[in-house]
Amino acid sequence: MSNQIPTQPGIMEIALYVSGEARIEGRDEVLKLSSNENHYGCSDKARDAYLRAAVNLHRYPNTDHAALRAAIGEIHRLDPDRIICGVGSDEVLQFITQAYAGPGDEVITTEHGFSMYPILAHAAGATPVTVPEAERRIDVEAILGAVTDRTRIVFIANPANPTGTMLTEAELERLASGLPKHVLLVHDGAYAEFADGFDGGAGLVDAYPNVVMTRTFSKIHGLGGLRIGWGYARREVIDVLNRLRQPFNLSEGQMAAAEAAVRDVEFTARCREENARWRHWLRNALVQMGVGCDESFANFVLARFANPEEADACDKALKENGILVRKVGGYGLPDCLRITVGDESACRRVVHAIGTFKGVR
Ligand code: PMP
Repeated sequence: MSNQIPTQPGIMEIALYVSGEARIEGRDEVLKLSSNENHYGCSDKARDAYLRAAVNLHRYPNTDHAALRAAIGEIHRLDPDRIICGVGSDEVLQFITQAYAGPGDEVITTEHGFSMYPILAHAAGATPVTVPEAERRIDVEAILGAVTDRTRIVFIANPANPTGTMLTEAELERLASGLPKHVLLVHDGAYAEFADGFDGGAGLVDAYPNVVMTRTFSKIHGLGGLRIGWGYARREVIDVLNRLRQPFNLSEGQMAAAEAAVRDVEFTARCREENARWRHWLRNALVQMGVGCDESFANFVLARFANPEEADACDKALKENGILVRKVGGYGLPDCLRITVGDESACRRVVHAIGTFKGVR
């Protein structure tokens, strides 16, 4: 079309985000293990706070998120002035990319990295550069070797999605200290709470001025439907990101629910313990059935089959049993299925179905 309005550079390169399936045709009930949601839901206190906040809906919400940032700061022992909140951590990742990368710049992501990173890079007009991983683990030396004068951002998720693997503290230090000062390292800690004793990258932010940490309420706090995330960085970076933030990006309901959720440390601890227990059980059961499975530090495991055909056939068999898991061919892992760790009954059910498919149960 000759009169077509041209788009900004990069927009048409974006491959649309594919979310985990939620429905199976012809079935009212499904066991949904496709989106790394919290199988236990959210804290009752968070739901109550959300409902209590449903007053004065004609009023604009508080714009500086002060109470929520104070609660996050208190629980995570961080300076609230160095925290920014967004509509999911996706929005915080968007602020970061928009602020620090543009046309002509490179943004490094890794082979099996979270699919939003190249989307955000393209949306900013920058060029995503994908670095190989080593056996489904982020390869720090490969990242450092890919840095050029044009590199502006390196994105890593740790624990990583969809592999579930994690970098050691020494590898993180090597990456943060090895990057030139003009490169921002984004440490995405969406699954940090599931890795026992891990600070999500906060210590790295304090030690290195060019590191930013992002976190979410969608995973351990079970509030994926409400869309709340946050970031932690040095003050100068937070100041930059706040300039891009819409003044009323979070509603009172979102803020109230998130504050109650982060303060409900008993619920968080219970979810962490249950997840660790059933993640371990699920991995062992898969390995015993001859399905490959790396150690996971998140709330999902990556089941590795003999080939893509077997993975597809297993996905189909699971669907016939009313179970939804995540195909990850789009992440360069066509022989794998990502399975969210559910509760005991969910884990037993998915293992039974895979066992029947493999002819071992
Ligand atoms: N980072 C990673 C690694 C994720 O897996 C996800 C959720 N799929 C997000 C960020 C975004 O989460 P949210 O926007 O719900 O906070």
